[in-house]
Amino acid sequence: MELSITTKLSDHLTPKPAADTELGFGQIFTDHMFTMDYSRESGWHSPQIVPYTSLELDPSTIYLHYGQAVFDGLKAYRTPDGSINLFRPMLHLERINTSSKRMVIPPIDPAFCLKCLKELLQVEKDWVPDRPGCSLYIRPFIVAMDPCLIVRPSVTYRFFIILSPCGSYYPQGMNPVSIFVETEYVRAARGGSGQAKTPANYAASLIAQNKAKTAGCVQVLWLDSVHRRYIEEIGSMNAFFVIDGKLVTPELNDSILPGITRRTVLELARDMGFRCEERQIAIDELCHLAKQGHVSEMFGSGTAAVISPVGELRYQSERIVFNQGKTGKVTQLFYDTITGIQYGRTPDPYGWTEKV
Ligand SMILES: *Cc1c(COP(=O)(O)O)cnc(C)c1O
Repeated sequence: MELSITTKLSDHLTPKPAADTELGFGQIFTDHMFTMDYSRESGWHSPQIVPYTSLELDPSTIYLHYGQAVFDGLKAYRTPDGSINLFRPMLHLERINTSSKRMVIPPIDPAFCLKCLKELLQVEKDWVPDRPGCSLYIRPFIVAMDPCLIVRPSVTYRFFIILSPCGSYYPQGMNPVSIFVETEYVRAARGGSGQAKTPANYAASLIAQNKAKTAGCVQVLWLDSVHRRYIEEIGSMNAFFVIDGKLVTPELNDSILPGITRRTVLELARDMGFRCEERQIAIDELCHLAKQGHVSEMFGSGTAAVISPVGELRYQSERIVFNQGKTGKVTQLFYDTITGIQYGRTPDPYGWTEKV
């Protein structure tokens, strides 16, 4: 029997940001959130929409000490007719279960959680911005709730969905970035948790992010943990190259996060007739090919930016520049095609979008 969702509306709504507010990312939250609890006896229970509020946690909560938690990130988009689109939401909710499996967290029912998300979005629909490039970021996450300092899987959990209106990633148009090739630290190890969206991976990445900033770069290019040789990801985006007209991306392994944007790019590319390769790409091979003029474009893919062009790589003393530091045609094509479908400006022949 399906659980019924209870709703308690807030009696003081915050004013929506003014039309000219720079929304930025992840700093403003809507009036309500969704929560659901897990216990061994009842499984997932008590799904509810409640006013957004801070939490009271026992200081010994397992999550606070050992980071047993998972999250995901997707967006709701305002279409020209005023309706609201979600983009491949079931893939995001199913990925929570893949992440949870690695972190020994009990699975959710993705179809039920999609229904809960849609109910929450019905309550918060006025928070979906209608300005170009803006969207409502959706952050579902699960945290371990047992008050206990023993290192073991929790037996109680809480699932949340919070919502945050966010601004355009590219208010001044797409801007290729400089990326620092990290040869000391790794994001995730083979056999580790790199495939899961779990807090530890992001905490572990901060030190290299600081190194990249110091070097004047905006993000890190991660190499594999065994050889420090094979390209894995760019910050928290998947990596793509255009090599001799072919679209090339690192093949998935257990230290690469399987991005839904990555999957979308590959599916679109194959449909458009691009030759695609998912394979290991060594950084020295890439340098060599780039010097010979074979690598025309590089970009990252992820929900936040969709597609992010890379203008140059800094690898030790070398600088590898792509497409003279300008956004390439293939990069622009994927950005325009994917955002066109997400915002409902162009038809969606793939059934990727879903109305709220
Ligand atoms: C979320 C994420 C991505 C991109 O995944 P999308 O599903 O495309 O948003 C890539 N790499 C890492 C490390 C991530 O956390």
